[in-house]
Amino acid sequence: MQATLNRPVSRNSINNDPSDIQILKKILNRLGYYKPLEKTGITPYADEAMFQALSQFQRDYGLPVTGSTKNGDQTLSILEREANKIQRGSYIWRTAGDDKVRKTHAAFDGTIRTWDNAPDPGEDMNCRCWAEKIDIRKIPVVNIAKDRIASVIDNTPAIFDIKVDHTVSVDSKFYEDIETAKQALELYDLHIITSAHKHNIDPDLIRSIMWAENVRGSQIGLGYTLDRLKASKTILPMNIYKNLWYSIIPNGKKNLYNAEHNIEAGTIIIKRLQSRIVNSTPEKIGALWNSMAFEKTNEYAIYIGHVYKEKPWKEAKP
Ligand SMILES: [Zn+2]
Repeated sequence: MQATLNRPVSRNSINNDPSDIQILKKILNRLGYYKPLEKTGITPYADEAMFQALSQFQRDYGLPVTGSTKNGDQTLSILEREANKIQRGSYIWRTAGDDKVRKTHAAFDGTIRTWDNAPDPGEDMNCRCWAEKIDIRKIPVVNIAKDRIASVIDNTPAIFDIKVDHTVSVDSKFYEDIETAKQALELYDLHIITSAHKHNIDPDLIRSIMWAENVRGSQIGLGYTLDRLKASKTILPMNIYKNLWYSIIPNGKKNLYNAEHNIEAGTIIIKRLQSRIVNSTPEKIGALWNSMAFEKTNEYAIYIGHVYKEKPWKEAKP
């Protein structure tokens, strides 16, 4: 991050340059001093919180506490120096949550990330995303399946450890029922989009898991027949284990059999898994979706990562 200002920045100026304000806000946010308003993210308009952040920074670094800065002064050079270090610890990626947020950043929204894992919020020119400072040591690590399930259902704070196992690869047996998967994704596309929008999550994450569950879990279409008879333990299209997850949505024992509610239940589970994984990826979410007991990625997880990247549902329709 480069800290070069067009004009001096100060609280009393009516002439602060918008791009100067934006860069200062980004640096102060990165350093844990500035928190923007949730709905707007990093804007180019000066606000009191920014000047207070600047003053606090000056106080902490033994600089004259003026709440102002300009090119060539010590405040600006120390701000630049500190901003260009790899920050330590973790943060929650926040977006303004509107349609202008780029897709790749929207996919990070609400996730815990470490500063050594690029990209960083606010780094790109027009990015309004910011980092919410957190102390990860204060969040309980939960690695026992039943406690993880309780945390997801009750939406209580937790971190689920999940490591990437580089020794596993995709098994071709997962590809057995592509037609059923294609049909399901086409049929339920509107529910997927609606649910993703409602819960502020990347719809391709839902699609990837639904794809995998239908390719693998539908028992060549038989799964849907069993669901109609209410004879299955897991319910499609998301293939949700009824006895474990029915309380994630109202009246779940009945509503999980309704595709729209079933997809929303899956969406909520995915969203809550995502927010409990440090440096979340489709693979790590996939592993926990497959089994809440896992602490590392497996074949299913790799498959989810593969499907998320390839997006096979986009292939030309016959
Ligand atoms: Zn952004």
